[in-house]
Amino acid sequence: MTTLLATTSRLQKLHCAACRAPYPAFSLQRVSACCAQPLIADYELQEPLSKAAGIQAPENSMWRYAALLPLLDEANRVTLGEGWTPLLALPRLAARYGFHDLQLKDEGQNPTGSFKARGLSMAISKAKELGVTGCIIPTAGNAGVAMAAYCARAGMRAVVVMPRHTPQAFKEECYWYGAEVHLVDGLINDCAARVRELNAAGELLDVSTLKEPYRLEGKKTMGYEIAEQLNWELPDVLLYPAGGGTGLIGIWKAFREMQQLGWLPATLKLPRMVAVQAANCCPLVETRAGRQPNCHAYVGQPTIANGLAVPRPLGEPLMLEVLSESKGLALPITDEQMLEGLRELGKEEGLFVAPEGAAVWMAARHLFRTGWLRPEERVLLLNTGSGQKYLENIVGLA
Ligand SMILES: *Cc1c(COP(=O)(O)O)cnc(C)c1O
Ligand SMILES: [Zn+2]
Repeated sequence: MTTLLATTSRLQKLHCAACRAPYPAFSLQRVSACCAQPLIADYELQEPLSKAAGIQAPENSMWRYAALLPLLDEANRVTLGEGWTPLLALPRLAARYGFHDLQLKDEGQNPTGSFKARGLSMAISKAKELGVTGCIIPTAGNAGVAMAAYCARAGMRAVVVMPRHTPQAFKEECYWYGAEVHLVDGLINDCAARVRELNAAGELLDVSTLKEPYRLEGKKTMGYEIAEQLNWELPDVLLYPAGGGTGLIGIWKAFREMQQLGWLPATLKLPRMVAVQAANCCPLVETRAGRQPNCHAYVGQPTIANGLAVPRPLGEPLMLEVLSESKGLALPITDEQMLEGLRELGKEEGLFVAPEGAAVWMAARHLFRTGWLRPEERVLLLNTGSGQKYLENIVGLA
């Protein structure tokens, strides 16, 4: 095992999300050996770090927060310019529905068309740093495309396993990046079973959501950006389309880290976090409502928001923790509602978002109507992807 020297990164160790047992951060890790649960990266946050010293401001990508990311040697960075996406006001929709302050962070502007670019840029960079030569992933679409792109850029072998019903654009883009693509009848959990067969010998790194520690670290940069872009104030409510949950968990992790760093006041009231799910596949909603003990036996159906078709997320306990700590909730949105949201965001604001992003807007509307969201509150929607790859799901329905 070669020992790598930390340069700017403050990475210290990893810990098991279930029992907090520590794990070394400087060798290749997957899930925890103790509990088979996600490993979470810990940084040195007590040692003072000013914003000026901690943020590489000229860097217009998520890598401006490199000090709080796990990559040790910049030479291993595998980047396509991911992150630092715009916060856009939605003035026409705000006026129509009575919101005082309504903004959308547009992650559809990322390389490969979704926020999966953040997580996979980070994971593939770390994989490269740790000597990995090939990666495999079960995916609902966007994560596979992103992995294929970053693997191509890193000179690594890429194997992508996705549901057969995934829109063609996702498959096609993977082919053009030179990935090996396997199609499976079923949802992402069925793809995960195929990944286990294909990688029985373990020669590829499985970069499934939360089965290695670093996609989460890429996703957390959304939290840093939101704080910086809002001039170190946070919204009152943040709505996020939750599948595997890395974004939800990562953004919350970022808020906590910034409080420890003193970049945000320790007493600051953090946003209420809303996990928006597809009515066709909403394990969090069911667990929170007490209709099941957990998602382990949940059966989901396909949805036009492919990224939300995750029936049994490994990160369920972590997501539930974020929802209760933040006094948030989980909300199901139907495919019909998503189409309505797509029309509104397109026709009123000029945004062609992923159905996942449309779901988030419809959730905001619903929560406003029921009074859970008050007119004076600052509301931030996360649109996680571009609509362009989803054409087959929505063609002719504008
Ligand atoms: C993957 C995906 C999601 C869900 O993200 P998680 O981090 O798995 O919760 C939401 N929207 C889009 C467009 C996605 O690709
Ligand atoms: Zn453990």
